[in-house]
Amino acid sequence: MTTHSEASAENNIPRESSRLLDNEPSSTSYAAVENGGQEEEQRSGEQRSSKARRITIIVLAVVLSTTVLATAWFASHYSSLRKRSYRPYGILNNGTHDFRQTLIMISLDGTVNDYLDRGITPNLDAIAADGVRAQYMNPSFPSVTFPNHWSLVTGLYPETHGIVGNVFYDPVLNQTFNYKSAAGSWSPKWWGGEPIWVTSELQNVTSAVIMWPGCSTSFNGVRPTYEVPFDDVTNSDKKMDQVLQWLDLPLEDRPQIINAYIQTVDQHGHKYGPYDNLTLNALHSVDGSLGRLLDGLKKRHLSDIVHIMVVSDHGMSESSNDKLIYYDDILDETALGNIWKSEGWPLLGIRPYPGREDAVDDIYQQLYEHSLLPGAKYEVFRRENMPPKYHFSHTQRVPPVVAIPFEGWNFVTHKQFNDPTKVYQPRGVHGYDNFARQSRAIFVAKGPFFDWDLGRGQRLKPFVNVEVYNVLSRILGLQPAENNGTLAGFLQSLD
Ligand SMILES: [Zn+2]
Repeated sequence: MTTHSEASAENNIPRESSRLLDNEPSSTSYAAVENGGQEEEQRSGEQRSSKARRITIIVLAVVLSTTVLATAWFASHYSSLRKRSYRPYGILNNGTHDFRQTLIMISLDGTVNDYLDRGITPNLDAIAADGVRAQYMNPSFPSVTFPNHWSLVTGLYPETHGIVGNVFYDPVLNQTFNYKSAAGSWSPKWWGGEPIWVTSELQNVTSAVIMWPGCSTSFNGVRPTYEVPFDDVTNSDKKMDQVLQWLDLPLEDRPQIINAYIQTVDQHGHKYGPYDNLTLNALHSVDGSLGRLLDGLKKRHLSDIVHIMVVSDHGMSESSNDKLIYYDDILDETALGNIWKSEGWPLLGIRPYPGREDAVDDIYQQLYEHSLLPGAKYEVFRRENMPPKYHFSHTQRVPPVVAIPFEGWNFVTHKQFNDPTKVYQPRGVHGYDNFARQSRAIFVAKGPFFDWDLGRGQRLKPFVNVEVYNVLSRILGLQPAENNGTLAGFLQSLD
């Protein structure tokens, strides 16, 4: 769609250029040379002087005409650059209303990247065809919901923003964060970093959030202008309708960034397994809600004006009775008796009882020696020796010993699961190595920024989700807060 402001940019500058070209010295300057020469001859009659003046004037005329031509060339060149550039502060128009750059960011919790290759997501396919799709996006470690939703909107690794799990203990506060305890978990003391809606509000850009994990906390008192707090009842169609209602607000009230969270796919993946038909049907249904949003944008003539970005926080692996690690068979009675807290499921993050910190060495050593045996299905690290790729060391919220099962494997005790006639639940699990294949998340986006930066239909190189915050900031023309992104908001195409 051509917008009013773009149209004026296109029409005005070439018109100005052609006026400049019409005013070339062909009429004015040559006449000046002729007139000037005649007057000079009549006044002095001196042939040589007249010739010298004539040459001077011709030189001046040539310089003038060159300048005019150069100016015209620069003007026209500048206008073509301007047409090709992305203007985060530009005003677009859908034919009836002005729009500032606007972005709808939607998270489909637990959507595995390879779901997009199954032909059951026509609307996600349509967004990718009109925009870009990452080959895959790596979550941050650990690949669970709260840490990754916060990394997506702050650009920080969990060890930096502090939400290191869905449930974790902070030995400094001597308190436990639990995402299910709304009252306790919204306290700002847990949440580091600056989410994109706070970056926006601090720079006078209106924001709106639907149920995004962390949205009900405040940052020095700053909150999104519009907020729908979490509930487990509102379906994805209703969430998309809310998004469209916000777009119908007058310019001055309308949010420029909307973050919406949809948990349906994750819930089905856990319950039935990531590739069960019930889970894939749930995905197809959620994709239908995206279609509802796309239709709503089309009706409003906003398809080429409003940005859409659809992401997931992590993938999902299939669990089974054949993939259980009985850690009470690995640790002896003394070591087991020293364990105070076991955190970070499916990780086995171990804290010994207060006053028994010395037990860490023994617990670690027993787990480590077992991990070297053939057929062992996990790796184990002390907090201070976590591999750098995990960015999971620099906070005491990480337990002193962390065992990471291979994807699809689960730590249990015989007390927790000892009946082989039962099926291990949940059927789908995530939280493993963030670079493992099944952990991969989706990234699909379209809009004027991607048209300009990458072009339509591009596949992007894989990237870690801490890059997304800078992309959001670029789209909206915001000064980003300090973050762990490395690409400055410019994702890279595979070509
Ligand atoms: Zn999740």
